[in-house]
Amino acid sequence: KRVAREEDVPFYKLQTRSIFGKNRLIDPNSIDSYLAVGGYQSLAKALFEMKPKEIIAEIKSANLRGRGGGGFPAAIKWDSCSRHKGPKYVICNADEGDPGAYMDRGLLEGNPHLIIEGMLIGAFAMGSHEGYVYVRHEYPLAVANLAKAIDHAKQYGLLGEDILGSGFDFDLHISKGGGAFVCGESTALMASLEGKPGRPRAKYIHTSEKGFRDSPSNLNNVETWANVPLIIDKGAQWYAAMGTDYSKGTKIFSLVGKVVNTGLVEVPMGTTLREIIFDIGGGIPKKKQFKAVQTGGPSGGCIPEQFLDTPVDFDELTKLGSIMGSGGMIVMDQDTCMVDVARYFIEFLIDESCGQCNPCREGLKQMMAVLTRICEGNGKQGDIELLEELGTMMQKFSLCGLGTSAPNPVLTTILYFRDEYEAHIYDKKCPAGVCKPLFHY
Ligand code: SF4
Repeated sequence: KRVAREEDVPFYKLQTRSIFGKNRLIDPNSIDSYLAVGGYQSLAKALFEMKPKEIIAEIKSANLRGRGGGGFPAAIKWDSCSRHKGPKYVICNADEGDPGAYMDRGLLEGNPHLIIEGMLIGAFAMGSHEGYVYVRHEYPLAVANLAKAIDHAKQYGLLGEDILGSGFDFDLHISKGGGAFVCGESTALMASLEGKPGRPRAKYIHTSEKGFRDSPSNLNNVETWANVPLIIDKGAQWYAAMGTDYSKGTKIFSLVGKVVNTGLVEVPMGTTLREIIFDIGGGIPKKKQFKAVQTGGPSGGCIPEQFLDTPVDFDELTKLGSIMGSGGMIVMDQDTCMVDVARYFIEFLIDESCGQCNPCREGLKQMMAVLTRICEGNGKQGDIELLEELGTMMQKFSLCGLGTSAPNPVLTTILYFRDEYEAHIYDKKCPAGVCKPLFHY
C-alpha cells in the first residue's frame, strides 16, 4: 500500500515547517538522532564563534518576538537580563493552558533537544548558569521525553560543567506545574517555581531585574526557545525574510474545532485566516457554514467571516479585538451559539482566576450571571450594556493579563454577533438552537 509523502498532503505541503521540520526525522528519545540532523551545532557556533553580545544582536536583528502571546522582543529581555550581575536564571514556560492548544506539547514530545539547545544558547548569551523548564504535569510524555533528553545531554557533556570544553557551565531542571492557567503569567510562574502559591504580582519591577529567587530571570515560552537554534544556525537575515514587517519567522497554530483537518500548523507570520482554515484545514465539515474563529484561547476573541482575509500576526488580530496569543485557533460553524461560547470561556476563567483582585474576581462572576440568564431566556434590556461596562472595568483595573484580557470573548461576540444577544434577550430565541432546551417556548 502506498504511503502518502508529507509533501503530497495539502495539510502539510502548504505549511512552512521550520521549527517542526526535524520532528519527523528524529527519535525524540535519542540524542544521536538529533545530532545526526545537525543538532547542537548552533550551540557550538554560539560557544566558540560568537560573543554573548553578538548572540543577542543576532536575536535582535531577527526580531524574534515572544511566542507565549505577548510578542515582546526577546532580545530586549535578554539584553536587560545580561546586564545584571550575580546569579540569574533562564526559564522555559511550558505551562500551556489554553483549551485546545498543544503547540508546546508537540515540540517537547517531538524534539526536546531543540528546546534545551535554545535555552543553552540563551543562558550563554545572558551569563546564566541555571535554568528551569516549568511544564504542566498533565503532559506526562513531554516530561518523560524532556527528562530523558536532559540526562542524555549531561552524558554527552552538553549540560553541566565546562560544556564542550568551553568553560561555560549550565544546569537545567524540570519543575512540574499543577495545571493552573494563571501560572502562564510570568510572576505567578516564578512564585510557583519557588514553591509558593501561583499568584501574579504587580510588575513595577521587571522579572529581568528581580524574578525567580529575587534574582534577574528571563522567561520565554517553548516555541520562542525553539526558534533560537534556527536563528543562530541560519542567521537573522534568513529568519527575518519570513513573516510581516513587525512579526518575523513562522508561527505554530493549534487548529481545532469544526474544521476538516485538525492539528498543528506552522506557517509564516502573515498567512491569512482563510489560508489556515480553508486551504490547510480543508474548511468546514459536512458542508456547513463557517461562523467564527476564536484566536488566542480564553484571552482572545471570536473573529467573524468578513475578516477571514486578515493576515495573522501579533498586531493585526489585536485591531479586531482579539489576539494571536500563543496560537490557539478554534473554528466554529453555523451550529455554534456565540453567547454560549462567551459563557463557556468566562466559566473557564472563573475557575482559573487566582481571585486576589476584585475587578477580575467579581467582574467574572457578574459576567457569568448575566450570560447565564441571557442563555436561559431570562435576559433583560440593558444586559448587553452591562456586559460591556463590566468588560471595560476589567480591562482597565485588573492586576494581571488574565483579568485584563478575560472580557475579550464577551466583547468580541457582542461586537460581531450582537444580533444573537438581542435574539436571546428580546425574541427569547437562540438562533443556533444551542440554548433551546433552556428556553420556555
Ligand atoms: Fe488574579 Fe485575576 Fe487579579 Fe490576575 S487579574 S491577579 S488572575 S484575580
